[in-house]
Amino acid sequence: MLDIDEALRYLGASGADEALRQRMASVARDAESRFAPRFTYRVSGVEHRSEGEWLSDVQLLLPGRSARKMLAECSHAAVLVCTLGLSFDQHLRAMQARDMSQAVLLDTCGSVLVEAGCDAAEKEIAARFPGVYLTDRFSPGYGDLPLDLQAAICQLTDSQRRLGVYVTPSMLMNPQKSVTAIIGIADRPQRARIRGCAYCAMKDTCALRKGGHSCDD
Ligand code: SF4
Repeated sequence: MLDIDEALRYLGASGADEALRQRMASVARDAESRFAPRFTYRVSGVEHRSEGEWLSDVQLLLPGRSARKMLAECSHAAVLVCTLGLSFDQHLRAMQARDMSQAVLLDTCGSVLVEAGCDAAEKEIAARFPGVYLTDRFSPGYGDLPLDLQAAICQLTDSQRRLGVYVTPSMLMNPQKSVTAIIGIADRPQRARIRGCAYCAMKDTCALRKGGHSCDD
């Protein structure tokens, strides 16, 4: 079941009353019965070069400090595309014409669903490589990682043919509820830099945390 708390958080309504919570739950149930996220990914070796993190098997350079920070301890990385498909966009447009407030809830549920698809991809990757540790998932646009890498990720995963996902000339993902992401793969526990201490494999032993700090301080 789609995470209603997460959907309310995406909406900026974490303290929602019971009526809004019920409405969101009803929209979420309907969305889940209609749409299932689909994904595709490729795994590559990582070389830490002076010009950036080089994903050698897919010939992709991730420049900048953010990719370096996320992949510093990684020998491999997965590049991922996940989508709800065009039918979600069509359903959302029809809802926007009928009932705008319901459409806002549907839009939010779509975002949560596509992230749940990314979580499923992450689980599949973890199962393929037992004994390794994954970094937090991060996407083009995170920190100083260029947004235009979205198009390269779509191309190297063949996402247009496999999933119907491509990037428009104005750098928008099509279908709208689509995500590109990168996940680092390492042989030692990775700090949860994006999702935070609660998700971190080191949360019980971390000296930084005990000292009241976090990774990014
Ligand atoms: S501060 Fe420690 S527990 Fe929190 S995310 Fe960083 S490594 Fe993990």
